[in-house]
Amino acid sequence: MALIQVAVPDIGEFEDVEVIEILVAVGQRVAREDSLVTLESDKASVEIPSPYEGVVREILLSLGDLVSEGAPMVAMEVADDARAGAGGLVVREKGTPEQARATVTGRPRSGDTARRAGDHAEVVVMGAGPGGYTAAFRAADLGKQVTLVEPEATLGGVCLNVGCIPSKALLHIAGVMEEVAELRDQGVSYGDPQVDLGRIRSHKDGVVGTLTGGLARLAKQRGVEVLRGIGRFANPNALEVETADGVRPLTFDAAIIAVGSRSVDIPDFPHEDPRVMDSTAALELGEIPERLLVVGGGIIGLEMATVYHALGSRITVVELLEVLMTGVDRDLVRPLHKRLEARFENLFTGTKVTAMTARGDGIWVSLEGEGAPAEDRFDRVLVAVGRRPNGDRLRAELAGVHVDERGFIPVDERCRTNVPHIYAIGDVTGPPLLAHKATHEGKTAAEVIAGLPAAFDPATIPSVAYTDPEIAWMGLGEEAAREQGIEIRVAKFPWAASGRALGSGRSEGFTKLIFSATDRSLLGAGITGVHAGDLIAEAVLALEMGADAEDLSLTIHPHPTFSESIGMAAEVAHGTVTDLYLPRSRRKPG
Ligand SMILES: Cc1cc2nc3c(=O)[nH]c(=O)nc-3n(C[C@H](O)[C@H](O)[C@H](O)COP(=O)(O)OP(=O)(O)OC[C@H]3O[C@@H](n4cnc5c(N)ncnc54)[C@H](O)[C@@H]3O)c2cc1C
Repeated sequence: MALIQVAVPDIGEFEDVEVIEILVAVGQRVAREDSLVTLESDKASVEIPSPYEGVVREILLSLGDLVSEGAPMVAMEVADDARAGAGGLVVREKGTPEQARATVTGRPRSGDTARRAGDHAEVVVMGAGPGGYTAAFRAADLGKQVTLVEPEATLGGVCLNVGCIPSKALLHIAGVMEEVAELRDQGVSYGDPQVDLGRIRSHKDGVVGTLTGGLARLAKQRGVEVLRGIGRFANPNALEVETADGVRPLTFDAAIIAVGSRSVDIPDFPHEDPRVMDSTAALELGEIPERLLVVGGGIIGLEMATVYHALGSRITVVELLEVLMTGVDRDLVRPLHKRLEARFENLFTGTKVTAMTARGDGIWVSLEGEGAPAEDRFDRVLVAVGRRPNGDRLRAELAGVHVDERGFIPVDERCRTNVPHIYAIGDVTGPPLLAHKATHEGKTAAEVIAGLPAAFDPATIPSVAYTDPEIAWMGLGEEAAREQGIEIRVAKFPWAASGRALGSGRSEGFTKLIFSATDRSLLGAGITGVHAGDLIAEAVLALEMGADAEDLSLTIHPHPTFSESIGMAAEVAHGTVTDLYLPRSRRKPG
């Protein structure tokens, strides 16, 4: 055995770079190529691999040290023959034989470890939302040298910073407040809630910070270079990145466009007035207005309405179409509509906001629709009428990438645009605009670039409205099946027959499964009720696995759970249910 000193190898033009992570501990056995430390310059972070297998005996640098080539990192005990196997590494014996130490100059590995932040990337990813960071991390894990371009200070995009995560943190609070209020009917009551908006805000920001900070660490661990700036195409093989220090050219072998979407504004509405909010402003929780108008009865509008209602606002929702959450089977939406009608000040469907004016005493709106007043005044307004893709902001034409008239970028099942080495993923490629679609597309694009036989070809992409009750659906809807003339068999299990739902005081929901009338294979599912968003995953798996009514009904679900309702609905279709009465004609003979 020999004790050797491993030093910082030649890492290009890096000098005086900071030690930001020590990835090993004294006594730890490391394999060859295991990362020892992470160094970070203003351009990139690099992980330095161990040239040997051995045991770490001493750490020779500290976090925050500024180091250059040749600086000692660790002392390691290695087998005598291990040194011979160190490939192209140059071993320089140092010190006396008694000290038995050596300095090893390692050569940077290509791709995933030591490399210079430069003006070229094997893979450049534009946008660090769930699609972009997933693609960047997967590509790095597959050995690619990746630069992730993102203008915002934190990674995570809309989803982590101003979308899925902060909204769910607030919806959790709203849900608990609602449950506590409802406990009154079950014999337990508390006083009126005391809302400390500052603490709610810092809880939400803490959740977001934990996740986005985690992403920054994951990027560093993988050697993904994060470049702060707005990326725009200069030609089919180069971006110009607008950074705080000026425009930086960046050439690439392959690019992944993951620039997401933004809220739609309504022309002539006073969006510049801070009382007229989009979802990002609403999530900031600047204040709890006495009266809040929510323009748009889709998922985002109704989720935010739920939050503000719990925190004390009187809510009016105005939806242009005749139903809330258009596109979802109406029976699934009905229990939600009923519950919101009982709680909100007004719920106007088939109604249009024709004008909006900001005045000193509030935001005045003109309304057109049955039952709605011609004019009304609100303390704040949330405009949640949809999102539009950011494909129009990339100068994509300079790369020859086709962007449609709405700003979406069409892709094939390998996530390739019309330019074969340029890929697009996430919201910018079209509906559904959902984070889990973006992440799966991100993995597909990275794998295709790495030469793997990947394709984005899901049986379904589930959707969830985290309202109260939640609504979740996947696969073929009942209304869509009937419109398309597909012969189906619909099986419903009402939660009024579920002991768990009754015990929870939430029996208004139901579980609906849609089977093929010919072979009883599962085609779709919809669930309305608490935790519907978690429950739908079983139906998604069943669809992916080609399960039929018998498979689902013979799957033993734990009792008493909400998940049983899926098994019971399948039993309805299979004709074996005993928790409901089925007419003889629909029972399966013994
Ligand atoms: C309030 C709200 C709640 C939501 N809740 C859910 C939910 O519960 N579940 C769900 O699945 N989805 C939800 N969504 C939708 C979800 O956030 C998006 O579908 C998801 O974030 C899309 O991911 P993405 O990677 O395509 O893009 P985004 O998350 O939009 O990220 C795009 C990134 O690209 C960056 N960018 C833009 N232009 C450039 C450029 N030129 N160069 C470099 N970078 C650029 C942006 O700064 C951004 O960080 C919600 C959205 C909102 C607004």
